[in-house]
Amino acid sequence: MSVKIKILGSGREVGRAAIGIEKNGRILLLDYGVNFDENDQPIFPEHVRPRDLDGVFLTHSHLDHIGAAPYLFVSILPRLYALPVTLDVSRLLLYDMIKLNGPYLPYDEATVDDMLGHAETVHYGDTVEAGMFQFEPLYNGHIPGSAAVLVHVDGHSILYTSDMNTVETKLMEPARLDGVKADTVIIESTYGASNHPPRVETEDHFYHSVLEVVEQGGTVLVPSFSVSRGQEIMSILAERGFDYPVWIDGMIRQITEIYLAHGEYLRDAGLLAKAASMFRMVKGWQDRRRAYKRPGVIIASAGMLKGGPSLYYLKKMFANPRNAIFLVSYQAPGTPGRRILEEGVFGEENLPVLARVQWFDFSSHTDKRGILRVLRGVRGLERVVLVHGDPAVQRVLAERVKEEIGVDVQIPGNGEEIVLD
Ligand SMILES: [Zn+2]
Ligand SMILES: [Zn+2]
Repeated sequence: MSVKIKILGSGREVGRAAIGIEKNGRILLLDYGVNFDENDQPIFPEHVRPRDLDGVFLTHSHLDHIGAAPYLFVSILPRLYALPVTLDVSRLLLYDMIKLNGPYLPYDEATVDDMLGHAETVHYGDTVEAGMFQFEPLYNGHIPGSAAVLVHVDGHSILYTSDMNTVETKLMEPARLDGVKADTVIIESTYGASNHPPRVETEDHFYHSVLEVVEQGGTVLVPSFSVSRGQEIMSILAERGFDYPVWIDGMIRQITEIYLAHGEYLRDAGLLAKAASMFRMVKGWQDRRRAYKRPGVIIASAGMLKGGPSLYYLKKMFANPRNAIFLVSYQAPGTPGRRILEEGVFGEENLPVLARVQWFDFSSHTDKRGILRVLRGVRGLERVVLVHGDPAVQRVLAERVKEEIGVDVQIPGNGEEIVLD
């Protein structure tokens, strides 16, 4: 029987990653994440029977890669593999998701504990045996502890990049996938049709914009994802010796502690440690009320201003033209962040935002150039499978890959299978 790639999620969509590699009815599952609908309810990937699993490998801790995984551990305990940082951060994020969406989820905290308590930790470069599959986690530059994975089964070598980054950031080195031997590459395509500006330009632009605001007596709110983006911004400010108060609020604090406890997964652990010691952690309402009243920076979750302390600060800060709201991540359609950016208004009453609003491209996903470079570096490549991307973007990218690399490119939807002969 042939090896099959089963697209259970992330087919012609960004997020909800879930890829099954199947041989003789046995499956190695790579990620099992969720997306959220317009009412913020989680959407699960296609179903997979837990008893058919030889193993589950979670590539990193973002909810679009882990959010549905506990569901597989409700009745039995399939083998679970992840890097240590991923396990620690996953617990926080899954608990938080249960707090917000508990009634809509088919699992609870106890399931999460069962799942994580039973996990086997793996490391970059390990060769792991899971039933009839052999796999190797590889450094992919996305966030601390994230991994691509090279799967060997029945003479095939399949590289799944997961979310990856090919440039150096404050937290991460570029992906190390050059020279990998694989007949099939399943590759993310989030930014497959465009290129990011050079990273250091974005950092310079951000830093100088922050200085402009604080030097004129304003406060900068940086709404930020708790996982990796918040620590990236902290590191940029610390590296340049930013001399005004910086406040850190929300889950960014706990994730920073986890990252510092696993310093070997950071490009420069000393830099994040310096940031954590220079900057002030918001410990309660007294700090929160102080933070926005003086010139300085507040880095707070959540990144799209849908909730969390960033929303509290926004309400206090948006009406003062001396302040600034600097958005540093993707803003999904319909979120308060997107509305502020595109319409300059906030809340149900469409209140005008008088604070300066700017968006900065600090993506932790590679771009078109990076995707092509990674594919060029793979030896023995025969086929490319695009996942984790918008279909319009994927079609543009597919043409480029066919032209430049000269291999077969597929853009499967969810529920589809690719048979390798
Ligand atoms: Zn993702
Ligand atoms: Zn990710």
